Amino acid sequence: MAAHAGGWGGVSENGTPLVDVDELKVWFPIRSGLVLDRHVGDVKAVDGVSLQIQRGETLGLVGESGCGKSTVGRALLRLYKPTGGTITFDGQDITHLGEGELRPLRKRMQMIFQDPYASLNPRHSVGRMVGEPLRVHRMGGNVNKQVRELLTIVGLPADAATRYPHEFSGGQRQRIGLARALALNPDFVVCDEPVSALDVSIQAQIVNLLELLQKEFDLTYLFIAHDLAVVRHISDRIAVMYLGQIMELSPADDLYDNPLHPYTISLLSAIPIPDPQVERKRTSILLQGDLPSPANPPRACRFHTRCPYVQPTRCREQEPELRPVDTHLVKCHFAEEIKAGTLQPQRREVVFEAPAAAPEAVS
Ligand code: SF4
Repeated sequence: MAAHAGGWGGVSENGTPLVDVDELKVWFPIRSGLVLDRHVGDVKAVDGVSLQIQRGETLGLVGESGCGKSTVGRALLRLYKPTGGTITFDGQDITHLGEGELRPLRKRMQMIFQDPYASLNPRHSVGRMVGEPLRVHRMGGNVNKQVRELLTIVGLPADAATRYPHEFSGGQRQRIGLARALALNPDFVVCDEPVSALDVSIQAQIVNLLELLQKEFDLTYLFIAHDLAVVRHISDRIAVMYLGQIMELSPADDLYDNPLHPYTISLLSAIPIPDPQVERKRTSILLQGDLPSPANPPRACRFHTRCPYVQPTRCREQEPELRPVDTHLVKCHFAEEIKAGTLQPQRREVVFEAPAAAPEAVS
């Protein structure tokens, strides 16, 4: 794990963050009409996200499908144009830079995709794909030699360069994606669900490899996942997103040991514990319904339509702020009461009932 565990703000002792996002908004317009192309609304995929990522840190970004986490990752790399807010990379405001101005920065910011097969061109050899960024950015040197080195670094045989993506397993393809991302020696890598499509046994290998590469190349990661169980191992801090906003952000261990936002509590209660004794006693807090539409998010607290702790008026009328509570930032009016246990969830379900005692054998 990287060194900058930090507090909720993620501010290291020695300098400014590598990535600094302030009130980021990414809205996609909804248009209607065949003749008159009218703007009738917006899908507010990201709606006021602020976070910092320190150099060498891994920030986990977690939430359900459709919560806007991948859109945040893509906006940070300026693959999407922000609708509002600012993105600062290594002290430079990149929010409104044009493609020409972004080009030198692109080398320093890379992305690893969820589906390694879809992100690789099946007609190109591995060597051609891994070497492509080196050629496009005219990095000089012996490209073939560099490609072989990169493939060795990510644990693939050097002769993989002459083979094609279909000849590799899912985990090996993700290693090819990693080699390509590392080719330009980046500072910042957005890992967009890099292990979600892989078998559980392979997931750990890729996460371990990512950690190894981080130490060796001083990389900074935004690690996006929909599963809290996956990000714990690799993240220094974790941000939990819901409907385009951050609900809770804290050092990783604090989030798991002492979650304060009802959404985080619900997500964590859904993770099975591999101890039948503990699991039998545990209660699960089930979320009701689906994620509301980001085109029309609930007013006040966005989570109030599904929150098991919802209170009659304040939750439905006043938007909570993302505010510090202990080592966390949490967007809930009642975080202190939930922490103290004076507010209890209204919808709880026992995961497993303890089996009734077996009748005594009749001899
Ligand atoms: Fe739940 Fe109310 Fe907190 Fe929102 S503000 S998370 S509805 S308790």
